[in-house]
Amino acid sequence: MSIVLKNLTAEELGAALAPLGVSPRLARQLQAAALRNDAIPASLPEVSPRLLARIRQNLVLPRLDLLDRRVSALDGFVKYVFGGEGADRFEAVRIPLLHRAGDEKYVACISSQVGCPLGCAFCATGKMGFKRNLATWEMVDQVLRIRADSPHPVRGVVFMGMGEPLLNYDAAIRAARILSEPCGLAIAAKSISISTAGVVLGIRRLGAERWPFRLIVSLTSADPDRRRALMPIEARYPLPELMAAIREYQTITGRRATLAWTMISGFNVRKEDAVQLAELVRGLPIKLDLIDVNDPTGTYRSPTPVELNAFRDALRAHLKMPVARRYSGGRDIHAACGMLAGA
Ligand code: SF4
Repeated sequence: MSIVLKNLTAEELGAALAPLGVSPRLARQLQAAALRNDAIPASLPEVSPRLLARIRQNLVLPRLDLLDRRVSALDGFVKYVFGGEGADRFEAVRIPLLHRAGDEKYVACISSQVGCPLGCAFCATGKMGFKRNLATWEMVDQVLRIRADSPHPVRGVVFMGMGEPLLNYDAAIRAARILSEPCGLAIAAKSISISTAGVVLGIRRLGAERWPFRLIVSLTSADPDRRRALMPIEARYPLPELMAAIREYQTITGRRATLAWTMISGFNVRKEDAVQLAELVRGLPIKLDLIDVNDPTGTYRSPTPVELNAFRDALRAHLKMPVARRYSGGRDIHAACGMLAGA
């Protein structure tokens, strides 16, 4: 048997290795040692060399190929291009959070699919079409490769790279669990974000299964026609259904979802957009993240300073919920939100 360790939670690893006489406790030890050192241990206290040799024969620890690595001259964001199980490429981004002396850290923005079937108009990944789902180990290893390349710890993970994680639900959630397990990489579950374009079935499942990760839903417009023009998923899961799923998620989990708003000049940053959004979320506590659109083709432009200020004023007046502008860096290396295309 060949067991891919990075595909399994500690509990699953224990079940897979039980026929060899491995206890759940030893499975957790193996998981911790293998993930933290990125190697299957050659010796472990209280484990006979014979048993460890049998375990080693049955475990594999595949690694992604690092095909390219680029550092942004603008802001220090780093883009990694990886190869995994197939001939295709996918990307991840290291986001630096180095402003607090003594608490320098990174967030890894990782991919869950090669390409994406959802085809959002402002996204380079969407233009690639869908190639394949990534395996759990390919998601876990993006974080491990970034970690191995970093002078400071990776303290957060966002599933916001290429692909729609809730369309690769089982593999993506398993990856998030492995990354957060105390005997895995022990990244705090609240620092792991699952970002979706609005896959209602996945949001419902995430709530029903009560996973403790953060949910980000890309809304981008509260007007169904405008949203459909940018995000074809609106035809499959219309706004009323999406909002009902978010309300249900919050009722079950008690956690506030974050709505992401890709700002496009002249399109969704008008006063009426703020009013419509306030109406849509009435009675539902949310956080709103504003993100500038990044479209190298120039079809969509980010808001002018005047538009941005007017939009923020309108949000303050009508929405009355926390609003943050998220910096999406690495534009010069095509690492910013919406720019990942496996190039
Ligand atoms: Fe897919 Fe996200 Fe791009 Fe939309 S924005 S096409 S969901 S990767």
